[in-house]
Amino acid sequence: MRVSQILKSKASNGVLTIGPDLPVSEAARLLSAKKIGSLVVTKDGTHAIGILSERDIVREIGKRGPGCLEDMVSDMMTRNPVTCTNGDTADEVLSRMTAGRFRHMPVVEGDEMVGLITLGDVVKARLSELAMEKDALEGMIMGH
Ligand code: AMP
Repeated sequence: MRVSQILKSKASNGVLTIGPDLPVSEAARLLSAKKIGSLVVTKDGTHAIGILSERDIVREIGKRGPGCLEDMVSDMMTRNPVTCTNGDTADEVLSRMTAGRFRHMPVVEGDEMVGLITLGDVVKARLSELAMEKDALEGMIMGH
């Protein structure tokens, strides 16, 4: 299974983004309002310069208290996020996410962002692929 198929199976292909010069409090508001776990940081809506996850914010609040909500997004984000392309396989993406210990990956074609996939999207897609393979194998064994 390829990333392009996973993107197609998602209800929405839009990526929620935020500008680097906005306060982290605005990112927290968006994460809460949209019920998501991360925002891609971009100046122009297409080039991902960073990613800010709920984990980054919670860690900083734990270390420094709620004053860190006044920081700029660019101070707290992870720069140059690991990305994938439409042609990568679900297994390649899963191993990169596992090795890097993160759950979000922008999908990039050329240097334009075309989507975002989460660990949950990849696991869901793999599970449905495995269920289809199981049905097909059972059908072969039973002679259907
Ligand atoms: P997550 O599990 O995605 O909520 O993120 C865990 C940590 O990894 C946070 O510090 C994120 O900023 C960082 N992170 C998330 N996605 C990526 C990515 N694609 N590449 C590099 N770092 C990431």
